[in-house]
Parts: sequence; structure tokens; C-alpha cells
Amino acid sequence: NALRLGPATAHDDRRLGGLLADGFDEGACHSRFQSATYRRNARKKPSPYLVTKLRQQEALQRRCGPGTAAYSNALEQLRAGKKQSHTGGECRYLVSISYQGLGNRILAATSAFLYAMLTDRVLLVDPSNQMGDLFCEPFPDTTWLLAQASFPLTNYSSFNIDTAESYANMLKNKVIGTNDNEASSTMRPAFAYIHLNHDASDQDKLFFCDEDQRNLRDFQWLVMRTDNYIVPGLFLITAFQEELDMLFPEPDTVFHHLGRYLFHPNNNVWGLITRYYDAYLATAHQRVGIQVRVFGKDKESPKLLEQITTCTQKDNLLPELGEPTDPVNRPAARKSTKAVLVTSLKAWYYEKLKSMYWEHSTVTGEAVSLHQPSHEEYQQFAAKSHDAKAWAEIYLLSLSDALVTTGLSTFGYVAQGLGGLTPWVMYKPANGSVVPNPPCGQDVSMEPCFLQPAFYDCRTKQAADVSKIVPHVQRCNDTRWGLKLV
Ligand code: GDP
Repeated sequence: NALRLGPATAHDDRRLGGLLADGFDEGACHSRFQSATYRRNARKKPSPYLVTKLRQQEALQRRCGPGTAAYSNALEQLRAGKKQSHTGGECRYLVSISYQGLGNRILAATSAFLYAMLTDRVLLVDPSNQMGDLFCEPFPDTTWLLAQASFPLTNYSSFNIDTAESYANMLKNKVIGTNDNEASSTMRPAFAYIHLNHDASDQDKLFFCDEDQRNLRDFQWLVMRTDNYIVPGLFLITAFQEELDMLFPEPDTVFHHLGRYLFHPNNNVWGLITRYYDAYLATAHQRVGIQVRVFGKDKESPKLLEQITTCTQKDNLLPELGEPTDPVNRPAARKSTKAVLVTSLKAWYYEKLKSMYWEHSTVTGEAVSLHQPSHEEYQQFAAKSHDAKAWAEIYLLSLSDALVTTGLSTFGYVAQGLGGLTPWVMYKPANGSVVPNPPCGQDVSMEPCFLQPAFYDCRTKQAADVSKIVPHVQRCNDTRWGLKLV
């Protein structure tokens, strides 16, 4: 917990080690140019190969993206409804559906982006649910947003497990098959729908097998729905492994790099972030972020409060409490200040912690201040200012020096990944009435967890423990069913 003092220096790399392209207008997106001065904890550098690949992807997005002749042509083929015979040079596309909470949407778009890079496809993000409103454009001189009005698949946002063009359903109905003769090519649609939602079937999850990737390669258009961070699954596909190793020599930094590359708060959200940070957090010697996400009914739980305090005090993230009457007799320590940023839908946890550190001294003599930007009470959908606050709070958490998160939350996953922080994760109590022991533990990496992977080994075609296949894909700490990169 070394204290990091002073403002970031002028020679901070504004392009994040080459991650960000040149050629953007500074006024249109302040965060792209200023984030490096706020992120003091991000020390990881992207590989030169990733930097090159990103520039290539940007070129592809420009060459084939909206507004180009190639794009009009591809839309025309999709409108015609038939799968075209494979022509090597044409542009291919991946549309990523945006739904669920903001954390889910960010992880889904990141997963789709990596898959697009690995398969030379143009990524187009569904602008629904504020995905078109919260971020700056990541690609220079083009747009990553799907223009819904001209998109022929008018019902794409309601695609689900039963959609006839889903990869699983097309396999089942022999519209496609491993042997081309077996499948009737005249029946093939112009696109395939990839269903990797939390309710995906075993057949849908065949997506993570090499053979099935070969089947998908020929579709000019793919539409994908996921509310998961499927990246660890991509690391299990042999055809991608060499490329992934070169892109990410440190596999636990995939989201850290891609997230910082893709998601720049727009000027409105950047205002929320910087005003809050500058007013309440900037001058503290250390910033501790505590994310309190309560999934069940019991929104104000004294047990969870106890879990937060035991977790943070046990690991010296926050000082233990002394007597209210203890003299403040350590001038050196007294100068040390900790700012604690609490994010939660409820104000209760913040209020309790704040009172605790007002009504008691701290055994170290440190001064502890508590801050919570908003308490929205409940999760809202399709509400602009609600999402802007959520995005600002995720980002503010990512500017912490140390982070405590609620397990199983994509909100927390995004914050930890952007910040390059390996969080302390508060385990979900098996029995709600007892505080888990230990109350939390430091995670195995900063990567998000893929919460619903396949339990299937494509090579043996049998159910298997997929955390044993490659060394850097392991089980998550917060759920034994999940997979994460380490
Ligand atoms: P997850 O459900 O924890 O995996 O995270 P998501 O971000 O996908 O969905 C939760 C949604 O609830 C967020 O996107 C916000 O809309 C809202 N929410 C949850 N916790 C907070 C919080 O601490 N602050 C704010 N402002 N919104 C929150």
C-alpha cells in the first residue's frame, strides 16, 4: 500500500504507451487526452504487436465501415438474404448487441472487439441502451456505432436462443454442418447469430471450438449477444492461441489494455469524473475504492457492513478504530489522509462508515474521509443520467490506489481492469447470516471473470474441467464455475 504522492508528471504518456491512435480532436473528447494524468496506477504497457494490430484494425474499420462502398455492398448482400460464396477480399462484420447493465455492456463490447480483431472483422456496436451516448468514438475517422435505421435485420435486438439463424439452431437443423455436402447451402442465410448469453446452450457454446470457428468464418455478417466477458473462452480456441500470445505476452492485461483503448468517457461524463475527483479525492495520500453491490433483497445488511470493515481492516486498507477519546498525538501520521470512495445503489453503507470514522479515532492516527457520488436506489434501464453516473463511478473506482469489490459484479470487474488493480474481493456469504471467514481475499488477477463458460473440451468432445487446459486460464476466485486469465 505504498502511498503515491504528488500530481502525475508532465511526461506522462498521453497515448498510453501507443495504445491510442493519433488523429483525434482534443476538444471532442477530453478524457482521451487527460486520462493519463489521473491514472497514476496504470503501469502496464501494451505489446508492440498489440499496438500494430490496433492500427491495422483501425484501418480495416475505416476501409469497410459505415459510409464506404464496401459497407453499402455488404448491407446489400445482407438485405438480399442469401449467403454469398466466399470471396477472400471482401469485408466481414460483427455486430455486438448491447443490453443488460453497463458493466455487462462494456465487457460484451470488449469481447466482441477482440473476437473481431482475431477474425479480421469490422466491429459494429449496437448503440442501444446508451452505448452510443457514454463514450467517445474509439476509431479515428469512422464510427463503431451501427446505424440501426439502415440495418436490414430490423429485429436483431430481440435475437435470442430460439432465433433460427443462431449457430446452434443452424447446426441442429443442418443448415450448416461440418461437412458441407451434408448441409444444404441454398438454405444458408447471409448471417449467423452467435448466442452467448447467460442462457446459452451447450450447442451455442460450441462457438469456443476450432471446428465451429471454421464454420463461422464464411459468414460475412455475424451478430453476437453476450452479457459475459467471453475472452478466457477465446484463449481456449487453438487457432487463436499463437496470435493471442503475441498480442498479450501478459495475458492478465487483456481487458486493461482493450478497455482503456475502447472506452473513453465523453465530455459530459468526464466532467462528472474530474469534478468529483478534483474536489474530493485528489489531495488524499491514498485513495481506497469500495464497491458495494447487493444482489439480493437485503439492501441494508449489517452483516455486509461487518464484512466490509473486517475485510478492509484486516488487510490494512483502512485503519482500525481507536477510542473516541484517544488523543491525536502522532503529528507525522496525522498528516496522512485516506479518501475512501464508496459506490453503491444505497447510501446506508457509506453513512455507517462515515459515522464510524467520525465518531472514533484511528489507531494509526490517519484521517479517513468517506465519499459517495450518488445513491440511485435501484438499477434503472435506458436512463441516460443514471448510466452516466454509473460510468463515472466505475471510472472513479478505477482511479483508486486499492480497490475492494463485491464478487460476481461486472461493474467492479470493469473498474479493476481499467485501473490495472488486482482487487480484494468480498466473497458472497454461503449463508447470508454469517460473515464469511475470511471476509475477502485478493484476487488472482485484475481480469474480469467469464461467469458462464462451456464445460466442454473440444478436443476430446467431452465434458471437462476447462480450467486445466491452458495454464493462464484458471478458475475465478468469486465463483468456481467461472474462468479468468491470470
Ligand atoms: P453487475 O450487475 O454488478 O454485474 O453490473 P452492471 O453494471 O452490469 O449492472 C448494474 C447496474 O446497476 C449498473 O450499470 C448501474 O446502472 C446500477 N448500479 C449498480 N451499482 C451501482 C453503483 O454503485 N452506482 C451507480 N451509479 N449505479 C450502480
